[in-house]
Amino acid sequence: MIRLNQIDKHYEQVVALNRVNLEIEHGKLVVLIGPSGCGKSTLLRVVNRMIEPSGGQILIDGKDALDIDPVLLRRSIGYVIQSAGLFPHLTIRENVAVVPHLLGWSKARRLDRADEMLALVQLDPHKFGNRYPKELSGGQQQRVGIARALAADPAVLLMDEPFSAVDPITREQLQEELLRIQRDVRKTIVFVTHDIDEAIRLGDKICLMRDGAVVQYADPDTMLRHPADAFTAQFIGQEPELKRLGRHNVGDFMRPGTPEPSLAGAERVGQASSARSALSKLLGGQSSLIVVDASGAAVGHVSLSDFAALA
Ligand code: ADP
Repeated sequence: MIRLNQIDKHYEQVVALNRVNLEIEHGKLVVLIGPSGCGKSTLLRVVNRMIEPSGGQILIDGKDALDIDPVLLRRSIGYVIQSAGLFPHLTIRENVAVVPHLLGWSKARRLDRADEMLALVQLDPHKFGNRYPKELSGGQQQRVGIARALAADPAVLLMDEPFSAVDPITREQLQEELLRIQRDVRKTIVFVTHDIDEAIRLGDKICLMRDGAVVQYADPDTMLRHPADAFTAQFIGQEPELKRLGRHNVGDFMRPGTPEPSLAGAERVGQASSARSALSKLLGGQSSLIVVDASGAAVGHVSLSDFAALA
């Protein structure tokens, strides 16, 4: 668990963080969101002391982070940034093994671990392990960034707008991947985004900030149904009911079974993809969608009437 008590950060006249209190439960994914300049990146970086707070207390699993050597603290916390930040002169496998290397793991152990992590993020280690970052797409590099952050098995992962530099389709795939990985590894994750839909899809809780302070800290459903104030309601924006659909996978709405042959030409969507994007495809004119599992096998189909329960 991470507990931030009365965290302040001042830059001369600028108050970047103003007495922030936040408790992040073990194994939960908390999204920090808010308008540009509200302090979300500063708050994220205070957790691993890339930024030293001006005041307050940071407790990680009961230990005062301000008593820990900041270099050791940072090695014990995974960190993922927007453009992956891979070392261009190291292979993918070596990039993933960077923190285990710093921690003194044997070569065999750290390279085995790197391959295990590449497989976890669905990159075949035999195919990608010896390549260099520039030989991968942006989305693949981002997966490597996640593999690298998880390599030393940290309890805490900090993710700073990790998916904001990729195209919308890749972004949705990466969000699905993160949810799948999180079901396996159950890390305590702090995730910064400026995208409310991403926050709703990923967050166990959302922390909405403004002017260096927390405006509302709640699970997405509560925030959508009961915004704390007019600012929160405005930030969530139009159609909160539709936004809530982002919490569901299309598999929750599909009719299971082998789709009829007449549907053979229909667009295919992954079972774990968001119900909201399936609904937009259906509203956009597709009469049905075939739902496929992770191996690509059809497991059901979905059409507009399957969303009728929402009405
Ligand atoms: P966000 O991530 O929400 O966009 P930041 O955490 O980056 O916001 O910044 C919060 C506030 O602190 C902003 O007003 C920003 O201009 C200010 N700030 C951030 N870093 C510095 C710095 N190194 N020097 C001065 N002001 C800073």
